[in-house]
Amino acid sequence: RNFEDAGLHPVMLENVKLCGYVSPTPVQSYTIPAVLLGRDVVACAQTGSGKTAAFLIPILSKLMGKARMLAAPRPNPTRYNPTTDRVRAEPLVLVVCPTRELACQIFDEARRLCYRTMLRPCVIYGGAPTRGQREQLEMGCDILIATPGRLMDFMQNLNLLSFSRLKFTVIDEADELLSTGWEEAIEKLFGQGSDMNADADHTYLMFSATFPKEARRLAREYMEEDYFKIK
Ligand code: AMP
Repeated sequence: RNFEDAGLHPVMLENVKLCGYVSPTPVQSYTIPAVLLGRDVVACAQTGSGKTAAFLIPILSKLMGKARMLAAPRPNPTRYNPTTDRVRAEPLVLVVCPTRELACQIFDEARRLCYRTMLRPCVIYGGAPTRGQREQLEMGCDILIATPGRLMDFMQNLNLLSFSRLKFTVIDEADELLSTGWEEAIEKLFGQGSDMNADADHTYLMFSATFPKEARRLAREYMEEDYFKIK
């Protein structure tokens, strides 16, 4: 298979070429058509398999078709005052991953794949001041990439996020997240998508190198797709 026949948005196809990707990796060959069809996806994929592009390419491609309508409004830069203005970000896509390094890599790839579109990615992670990250979000956020601690902080303590427009939730390196004490937080995010989009088209994607019991339970309980394995 190749990218040209996958039914991607023309701008996405160009951005994929600009990234230098010629043909899809195995995990991409599986996830791209599945996500374009609106299915939930569970994939067993290691770092290095192209898993980041495997979820970003089809998600962003779908959103590009409606970007003009969907993209978050940008505050007027001459009127926006970061010290006094409070705007809750309303992302369309939420990507949760275990580490700051991974979050930044996903953000870089999202930026390249969003090139020449109205979609704006943002990244938030712990171990850095919240202020700069908050200001980034307030400038408009369509794709939010987050580590779980900072995400919970922004959601629960600071009330800076609304998920009322959320269409895609991606849990990356799920086994890592679940083994480091984030089960409850992840389950809450799954619940949130189904509560608010009960009759709408919310898509869940879960990527993991291994599938411990807890990851299988979450997939069974919240996702509509069969467990799929890629070596
Ligand atoms: P990941 O598994 O997401 O960490 O990706 C590993 C590396 O593969 C990254 O540097 C990507 O830029 C690169 N990559 C992703 N998809 C492709 C592709 N289809 N062809 C060539 N390189 C790719």
